[in-house]
Amino acid sequence: DSQSKLQLVDKHIGVFPDFPKKGILFRDICPLLKDPAALTASIDLFEEHVKKNYPQVEFIVGLDARGFLFGPLLAQRLGIGFILVRKKGKLPGSTVSVAYELEYGTAEVEIQEDAVAPGQKVLLIDDLLATGGTLFAACELMRKQQAEVLGCMVVIELKELNGKDRLKPHSVFSLVRY
Ligand code: AMP
Repeated sequence: DSQSKLQLVDKHIGVFPDFPKKGILFRDICPLLKDPAALTASIDLFEEHVKKNYPQVEFIVGLDARGFLFGPLLAQRLGIGFILVRKKGKLPGSTVSVAYELEYGTAEVEIQEDAVAPGQKVLLIDDLLATGGTLFAACELMRKQQAEVLGCMVVIELKELNGKDRLKPHSVFSLVRY
């Protein structure tokens, strides 16, 4: 059942204090990917959520880089396509980008201009929600292309950073919260 799947996912999230720098508690999804039952459980849970709440979804949009690990698996389950939001400079052809603030400086996320058409319904996915800056920028990209964001999904939500508020009015679905 869902409860045991959630426990299996939770058990396969690693934790590393002071990585990549002092004061950051890094949550590591590598153990989850290494365990086929736990990985299947995580995709099962996303699939249930989507089928129940967003049966109209047309594309899963994954964030560079760890959103790429979950997004295509979920998209395959749903029988729909997967779209990549990449860090700037990685995608060929005409692209659209959005800049966002990091702790020091800025970063940019990018999609191919023709990745989504106006009115298409998408769900965004990443491994982890911290401040929400990255998913917010990806939502902006979707807005620029007039795609309809149905919601955001992550394996892990870090509650105290209030990423959920940052992403309002978009909803955020997370498997585990710390
Ligand atoms: P944010 O834009 O602040 O929500 O940060 C989210 C992005 O940074 C995600 O793509 C995560 O992979 C990564 N990230 C931020 N904080 C952590 C953390 N404590 N552990 C692992 N990854 C993190």
